[in-house]
Amino acid sequence: MNILIINAGSSSIKYQLIQMPSELVIGKGLIERIGSKNATVKYKTNTVDIEEVMVIPNHSAGFKKMATLLMDSVQGVIADVNDIAIVAHRVVHGGNTFSETTVITQEVKDKIRELSVLAPLHNPHNLEGIILAEEAFPTAKQIAVFDTAFHQTMPVKAKKYALPNELYTDHRIQAFGFHGTSHKYVSEKAISFLKLKSSKIITIHLGHGCSITAVRDGKSIDHSMGFTPSNGLIMGSRSGDLDHSIIFYLVNNLGYGLEEVNTLLTKKSGMLGLTGHMDLRDIEAKAQSGNPECELALEMNAYRIKKYIGAYTAAMNGLDALVFTAGIGENSSTLRSLVCNELDYLGITMDPSKNELKSSNIREIGSDKAQVKVLVVPTNEELEIAKQAYGLSHNL
Ligand code: ADP
Repeated sequence: MNILIINAGSSSIKYQLIQMPSELVIGKGLIERIGSKNATVKYKTNTVDIEEVMVIPNHSAGFKKMATLLMDSVQGVIADVNDIAIVAHRVVHGGNTFSETTVITQEVKDKIRELSVLAPLHNPHNLEGIILAEEAFPTAKQIAVFDTAFHQTMPVKAKKYALPNELYTDHRIQAFGFHGTSHKYVSEKAISFLKLKSSKIITIHLGHGCSITAVRDGKSIDHSMGFTPSNGLIMGSRSGDLDHSIIFYLVNNLGYGLEEVNTLLTKKSGMLGLTGHMDLRDIEAKAQSGNPECELALEMNAYRIKKYIGAYTAAMNGLDALVFTAGIGENSSTLRSLVCNELDYLGITMDPSKNELKSSNIREIGSDKAQVKVLVVPTNEELEIAKQAYGLSHNL
């Protein structure tokens, strides 16, 4: 069975065609800078690896380009649209409505649209991806996999804010949690790698967005992102945790409009605000050549993560393993080392030489003697989405 995984963003479409149950990736790619004259189209199969720069005016054109490539008589990997059994979509916010992977109906689409108020940067684009996929692959089953679903197991004491009760009961103001597909995937990998029976794990997803989860016996029990994906760790361009009074100060004393505050906190803050760079590789290179702003930003980033590790170790009354994942977590030995430095009180000690080893496999980087295992687990959200969609297709 061929499953097409779609992750539609504001100006990009990430796609992967996976054969299940063999988990074989038969084609994948990324269309970026949609809406510009020089959009990039990447497409890779066993025999083809292309990157084109071209005009892709909108998501609809992007979808057409992707479908054409997949079905091309020379470069393609499938004969026609009927070769795709399922299109599985990453959807960021499922609110309290969706605790599991779901077959998409009109009602589901309406709900995803309704939930756009909670994830305005993500849900509208995820929904557009669904509508375009229905047109492009009319015979395929459309399935949604929600980033929030894994965190539905968080107990009320973790997900409720200390606000008047009716805001929770009547208006669903609570922490939902995000990056669930990744946290689920890497925590399961870590549990099986370490052969743990009962387990207390902290998973740290560090990509453009960053989040950290306390996973007890395979279930999310606390998480750093909240009502929206803005809370918690310092991210590429999002501030993470903040005293909310700053928002009022910006509006009342510095003349900011509310929309400007939103843009400031989600698109101009975080590592970008601190250093002028969003890509951690640039920040690390500058820090290495002595740039004080970049050095401090790395320290701040690691310090925030450390504090969450302490909090979640306390929340679980112990810790078996710490797991780093995603672009930064998998590749930045510098940040991993800053995070694990002086955490020996909690049983965490890094092995510096293991930390420097490059590999795309799951690996241990902690010192052999340390009580807590430290792992790097490459995430694979597409495969997790494919597995969930495949699992659901058998229960239909
Ligand atoms: P997304 O959230 O978009 O999926 P990724 O998981 O791909 O993001 O992570 C993107 C981040 O990973 C960027 O900040 C990038 O700088 C960082 N990154 C990728 N490779 C490296 C590397 N070798 N060293 C340090 N950071 C890296």
